[in-house]
Amino acid sequence: MKKFDVFIIGGGVIGSAIARELSRYRLSIGVAEKNTDVCNETSGRNTGVCHGGFAYDVGSLKAKLCVEGNRMMDDLARELDFPFRRCGKVLVGNTEEEYARLLEVIEQGNANGASGLRMISGKELKELIPQVEGSFALLSENSGILDPFLMTIALAENAAQNGAEYFLGHEVTGIQRDTDGYLIEAGGEIFRSRWVINSAGLGCGKISEMLGITGYHIVGSKDDYIILDERLGRGLPMPIYTVPSNTYMGIHVTPTTDGNVLLGPTAEQTDNMSWYGVEQKNLDYLYEEAMKLWPNFTRGDYIRTYSGILPKWVDEEGRIQDYKIEIRDDIAPNAVNLIGMESPGLTASVAIARYVIAMMQEREAFIENTDFNPNRKAIVRFEKLDGNTQAKLIKENPDYGELICRCGKVTKAEILQAIHNPLGVHTMTGVKYRTRAMMGRCQGGYCQMRITRMLEEELGIAPTDITYAQEGSRMFFGKVREVNEDE
Ligand SMILES: Cc1cc2nc3c(=O)[nH]c(=O)nc-3n(C[C@H](O)[C@H](O)[C@H](O)COP(=O)(O)OP(=O)(O)OC[C@H]3O[C@@H](n4cnc5c(N)ncnc54)[C@H](O)[C@@H]3O)c2cc1C
Repeated sequence: MKKFDVFIIGGGVIGSAIARELSRYRLSIGVAEKNTDVCNETSGRNTGVCHGGFAYDVGSLKAKLCVEGNRMMDDLARELDFPFRRCGKVLVGNTEEEYARLLEVIEQGNANGASGLRMISGKELKELIPQVEGSFALLSENSGILDPFLMTIALAENAAQNGAEYFLGHEVTGIQRDTDGYLIEAGGEIFRSRWVINSAGLGCGKISEMLGITGYHIVGSKDDYIILDERLGRGLPMPIYTVPSNTYMGIHVTPTTDGNVLLGPTAEQTDNMSWYGVEQKNLDYLYEEAMKLWPNFTRGDYIRTYSGILPKWVDEEGRIQDYKIEIRDDIAPNAVNLIGMESPGLTASVAIARYVIAMMQEREAFIENTDFNPNRKAIVRFEKLDGNTQAKLIKENPDYGELICRCGKVTKAEILQAIHNPLGVHTMTGVKYRTRAMMGRCQGGYCQMRITRMLEEELGIAPTDITYAQEGSRMFFGKVREVNEDE
């Protein structure tokens, strides 16, 4: 039986941020993740905006941790080598009521400690984003965009490099407490740990109940998006939002760090935490609403759709609650319970991790790990390099000279590094999230088969063992035609 000081349930951006921050101390850390990778749920299904912290109630944990997380982002992106751009964002309005609401948002933001907020005229707005529709706007200079896949992967890899052990494909199905701590059943194995952390995202309610902490009502808010071709991003320097309420950000048009544009989200309450389909009526709605903000695209620019589900903790009247981060010494000592970690969980993830650790340290003094290394290098993005550096790399390693994904211009060398990633993820989406291969206009039509062949060769596995994303999502089921070698 494997024994740990701390066992984290859920390896999304928050669980991985906690694992990474905890690895600054001399602790043995285990992370159980039910999926085959760390960004298969909410951490890989969002807008990728680094929020400014103005849209949350004054005094709330969401506001405090968002502002703190936003301030940390430049250093974090530098240390962990993931794409982040502090490009700003605008919230556009047209009516007197919207102007008044935006002034309230600025006041709320100032009270939350968010800086760089000001109203701008229609003229200044047009200078910033030529194709935007709006009479005036709130400009948040400190908002930004980041790559949510690469940020989550970077946190997880850095945690692993510093000693945290990841158990992918390990769903936690039971927790028991005895005098030595906790026994956790995951993926058919039993783990022992002195501390347990529930960072299970959409599964937080179930894990909380396993810990004996009952009564949390979690509902899902399902958000659908359309992704537009990379070409469109050149005309969109920052995200365009509508005027928000404190519970719904409204439709926005958001550039990604790779130059694609996201239209969304819708927001529909759901109890089904695993259905990610997108209905035609929602596509039509997104088209209409996004057109009102940024009429600069056509349906021909769509490359795919996706959706994400936010875990919202609600009270008996259905009102959305603040984050709950607690240690219930009376019911589950040495267990940190994180409930309702919805937006801005990406922005706030490392601030959340430090908040969690401060709570733990009120109960136990941790000894510093002097070997902790905060830095980690990402896979080189060949396409982004200048010609001289590209030529030098090809000379050193000819695999940089072979393009596998034509749309994303991803080389064989990059795919090989992704296949041999430090977390041992061996799915097609594992390669996709780490390199952008299969994310371009043709969505893998050209390179998918070459990548499956590389997985077979590098890992020595049969084609029928290759999965797309989840356990059981097999790429191949067998041969259509057998060739008899003797004939
Ligand atoms: C549509 C959308 C847009 C968003 N936009 C933004 C944004 O622009 N900016 C921002 O800051 N935030 C945004 N967010 C919020 C942000 O994505 C989340 O707050 C954050 O990703 C939550 O991280 P997490 O680690 O708690 O969740 P997850 O990524 O869901 O991680 C939890 C993990 O726990 C695992 N798990 C669950 N149950 C078990 C179990 N029993 N055993 C083992 N593992 C288990 C899951 O597989 C999952 O991987 C958005 C969210 C959505 C849905």
